[in-house]
Amino acid sequence: MPFQSLGLCSKLLSAIATQGYTIPTPIQTQAIPVIFAGKDLLAGAQTGTGKTAAFALPIVQMLGETTPQKKRRRPRALVLVPTRELAAQVSEQMQIYGRRLSLRSTMIYGGINIQAQIERLHRGIDIVVATPGRLLDHAARGTIKLSEIQFLVLDEADRMLDLGFIDDILQVAKYLPEQRQTLLFSATYSQTIKQLADELLNQPKRIEVARRNITADDVTQTIYSVERSRKREMISHLIRKGEWNQVLVFARTRYSADKLTAELLFDGINTAAIHSNKSQSLRTRTLKQFKQGELRVLVATDVASRGLDIAHLPHVVNYELPDIPEDYVHRIGRTGRAGEAGKALSLVCPAEQPKLQAIEKLLKGAIPRESIAEFLPISIKRGALKKPRKATISKPNPKKVAAKEKAAAARSGKPAAKTKKVQRSTKSRTVGRKKAAPTRSAPKSGRRGNRS
Ligand code: AMP
Repeated sequence: MPFQSLGLCSKLLSAIATQGYTIPTPIQTQAIPVIFAGKDLLAGAQTGTGKTAAFALPIVQMLGETTPQKKRRRPRALVLVPTRELAAQVSEQMQIYGRRLSLRSTMIYGGINIQAQIERLHRGIDIVVATPGRLLDHAARGTIKLSEIQFLVLDEADRMLDLGFIDDILQVAKYLPEQRQTLLFSATYSQTIKQLADELLNQPKRIEVARRNITADDVTQTIYSVERSRKREMISHLIRKGEWNQVLVFARTRYSADKLTAELLFDGINTAAIHSNKSQSLRTRTLKQFKQGELRVLVATDVASRGLDIAHLPHVVNYELPDIPEDYVHRIGRTGRAGEAGKALSLVCPAEQPKLQAIEKLLKGAIPRESIAEFLPISIKRGALKKPRKATISKPNPKKVAAKEKAAAARSGKPAAKTKKVQRSTKSRTVGRKKAAPTRSAPKSGRRGNRS
């Protein structure tokens, strides 16, 4: 189905063409008509499916069709998102489409000075993309009026709940008019999402697009087993040997993200980290540098990575596996986006095996293993080096041989002088006792060998 048959206006069709999109993604095909029909929507779709354009396009078009009554514009569409990064991405798309229809949009999130946001809101805005906490600050101060909201979008609703935003979302809803269209997008459909939907949506139309098939050809997944202490060395090796130029690396904590960044820099690899301890301006700058190819490696934590959309990202590395198996899916979804091929590699140390098992249980299948001999963990190395036992003959115990010879000499009545020699040297024994030789030389037939 072409974009033309979705009822989009020519200005938006030309904006879509400029973006390089030729056909709508499944979520766009299904969601756009529902939104145009004025229905509430409960959509199961992950980041990477094209869901942002799925809600941005019809909202922008409908807002563009009606002129605001007031002289100073008040927000008519509100998109709630879990993180600043996602706010930036959604806002960017709203601006691309909105400017074609002379609409103004802005972002609102915490961690930066509130005054600039107040001033922008004061100038008049049509679309607000916000994280719930800072939006509530504005609502409580009266610097934003939400009474004219016609569209409410809850983007990555499951993530907002994971981050503990449920009360904030319900609080925001109290500022909104009852009469509105509400769209909820979530990668997962849990009991809490259902409750949230029951609370905020009115007889929603439910659509579900297939979860990104993460085992499909567009993402090649590989597990590398490695000792914890050698991960840094291994990642450096992979990046340099593979001549990777744009790698997104996931670390479990802010501390390990910073540590790895310092280590890779030490190895001469241009790297920076983004996580919640970095200032927003630094995070934005770092992301821009990475997107423009000025940074070779970006190390991110899970929260900071949500919604990261970097076109044609070829490599994602899990330096440490996430605590929540679903985060693995989100992480590797950063590569192979919108049909591009990508590689997702995980460096797994022995202590992370239970996490790996949980991930494979979620994926309902094993992730292929590969190894680099010099980085195999000791436990695996031992197993790997266990060769089938070869046919060998045990060396005779010199003491036992000496005792036997002594006994034999006693029986034959010959002096036992030679036995002293035997005790001193095995070689001497060999020479001196030809009859005993077969027990010490390698067997010609397999009979003896098979015994040992
Ligand atoms: P999203 O799920 O909104 O995060 O989108 C993921 C990626 O898909 C973004 O890089 C979009 O630019 C891209 N995208 C969205 N719609 C399309 C489309 N119809 N064709 C190709 N790429 C698209």
